[in-house]
Amino acid sequence: MGGPSTQAELARQTGLSTATVSNIVKIMLDSGLASTEPITSSGRRALNVRLNSNGAVAVGIDFGRRHLRVVLASLSYHVIAEESVALPLGHQAEEGIQAAVDLLAKLLDESGVARTAVVGAGVGIPGPIDRRSGTVAQGAILPEWVGINILQHLEERLKIPVFVDNDANLGAWSEVTWGQHTGVSNLLFLKIGSGIGAGLILNGAPYYGNVGITGEIGHATIHEQGLVCRCGNRGCLETIASTTTMIELLSRGEDRPLTPADIVRKALARDSATLRVLDDAGLAVGRALGNVANLINPEVIVVGGPLAGLGDLFLDPIRRGLVRHAVPVIGETTKLSMSSLGDRAEALGAAALVFQHAGIRKT
Ligand SMILES: [Zn+2]
Repeated sequence: MGGPSTQAELARQTGLSTATVSNIVKIMLDSGLASTEPITSSGRRALNVRLNSNGAVAVGIDFGRRHLRVVLASLSYHVIAEESVALPLGHQAEEGIQAAVDLLAKLLDESGVARTAVVGAGVGIPGPIDRRSGTVAQGAILPEWVGINILQHLEERLKIPVFVDNDANLGAWSEVTWGQHTGVSNLLFLKIGSGIGAGLILNGAPYYGNVGITGEIGHATIHEQGLVCRCGNRGCLETIASTTTMIELLSRGEDRPLTPADIVRKALARDSATLRVLDDAGLAVGRALGNVANLINPEVIVVGGPLAGLGDLFLDPIRRGLVRHAVPVIGETTKLSMSSLGDRAEALGAAALVFQHAGIRKT
């Protein structure tokens, strides 16, 4: 098919019956591979059929505390366009949503993808999502977003089907679809950032529990008398191993507060205080993981977030903690690795979520 044609023209060009052409076009429209536009042909109203050059396209949107990333992905898991922009710390939900609407329009425009080719958007939020209502629940890293019905807001603004999920769940899903662990049925993705959360793939599917709030491993108690956590308890894993805590511990005596990238840089330069903080954090992470691994026996545990660039420097203490606290056979057989998807994991997982809901497997 060259440019857009009407169904009558397609039947003439191909020698197929108009009924057959109509059936094929319907299938292509349903799967997002083609779109139609009304025209007048020989004085009669008709529909022009246009092939969508990229076929069905899924949008992946990842909202962070300070960033927004949008990707456009094709049916064959090819990234068509991708861009990340900064969001102000403490931004309101409406501000973030507007930025996503604008960035999506820009990417569609620049890549020449028709809006009609978009089958849906997956959206990642750094916080628990109550699946009964589609709202962001208490405990989110984005407190300004709590109680907002993100699903409804985004569907109104984007005018496409929207699927919302927690960012760690999307990280897990991206590892088994885009990442190095395609086909793994039991995987735990641990996101270590300003907060700590886990996403679970069990028996090949994301695990959502009863109301959708799972993987809150950041609030596993490590030290009964430890620091008070943002959740109100004491000594949670986050009070030892989140990047927020590491930054607090390591910024003393510095001219400005460190960033996660500074932690990676200083650790790679073998700064002894940084290595000590990472060792303490890694052991605590491994201990929490050991308890979870005893319960669900994952094949792989993937660590993601801004410290993924540390590689074995951070994986080694995590492994020691895991081996110490898991039963021996689980400690020995559970593979532990850093995410290879970096800060793209959540947005890619969000796009893959759309294909999952549309029943489209990776080709
Ligand atoms: Zn806590």
